[in-house]
Amino acid sequence: MYCRHCGKEVKDKAVVCSGCGQPIEEAGGGAAGAGGGRWSWFTMFVTTGVFLLLLLIAIISGL
Ligand SMILES: [Zn+2]
Repeated sequence: MYCRHCGKEVKDKAVVCSGCGQPIEEAGGGAAGAGGGRWSWFTMFVTTGVFLLLLLIAIISGL
C-alpha cells in the first residue's frame, strides 16, 4: 500500500509511514466506515418510519 500523505510505498501492516512519519490509515477501513455511516442513517430513517407507522396504527385502532 502507499502512504496517503507522501505517496511512499509502505508495508501493509505499517502503523506509521517510514517516509513522512504520518499514521497510516487503511483506505478499506475508511470506505467501510463511510458505508456503515450511510447504512446507519438509512436504518435510522426506516426504523423511524416503521415506528411512526405502528404509532399511527395504534392510534387508529384505539379510536
Ligand atoms: Zn508518508
